[in-house]
Amino acid sequence: MDDVVIVGGGIIGAATAYFLSMEGRKVKVIERDPTYKTASFPLSLGGFRRQFFQKENILLGKFAREFIFKIPELLKTKKNPNPTASMVPNGYLLMFGPEHAEEQYKALENHRECDAGTKNIKGSELNKIFPYINNEGIETATYTDNKSEGWIDPFMFHSALKK
Ligand SMILES: Cc1cc2nc3c(=O)[nH]c(=O)nc-3n(C[C@H](O)[C@H](O)[C@H](O)COP(=O)(O)OP(=O)(O)OC[C@H]3O[C@@H](n4cnc5c(N)ncnc54)[C@H](O)[C@@H]3O)c2cc1C
Repeated sequence: MDDVVIVGGGIIGAATAYFLSMEGRKVKVIERDPTYKTASFPLSLGGFRRQFFQKENILLGKFAREFIFKIPELLKTKKNPNPTASMVPNGYLLMFGPEHAEEQYKALENHRECDAGTKNIKGSELNKIFPYINNEGIETATYTDNKSEGWIDPFMFHSALKK
């Protein structure tokens, strides 16, 4: 008998099944459409980042990054000996006008407390690092350049979890 039945085998259902299985639980996933044509995960841009406001989200982003980097080792199976999610860890740049800068400074305090590695730069100095960006109206910007953020191919990630 199954310990857990998960209804919906999208990325969340597949990931939940994976983690529960790793803890020794017997899991069954029920998916109504194995082509996933109305699921949201294949539409996703696959971005993984830690630049959020809430500490919970920042920490989840950190966990996801560590997991994604270990996909070749963690999701390796006999049928899928070389799993990949086609990761591109190019970082994220977020830019804020004067009306949103204060909130981002508060978010940055949470980033620091969570050791997120986010960098902060004045809008007026943005071109020193990103010369191709028009910084007009930008008060402040936050970014990472240490491979802690980027994007993956969600369909490949899902396939690897499923296998
Ligand atoms: C355009 C776009 C861009 C996005 N970009 C990002 C991004 O860059 N980074 C990011 O982290 N997130 C992004 N997201 C959000 C992300 O795609 C979703 O948060 C995520 O896919 C949700 O996963 P899920 O498994 O909950 O849902 P889904 O992927 O929708 O999976 C749900 C599954 O449940 C099945 N199901 C539903 N009801 C039943 C039922 N009664 N019985 C059986 N099966 C059922 C469905 O068929 C489906 O396969 C984006 C979303 C969109 C639309």
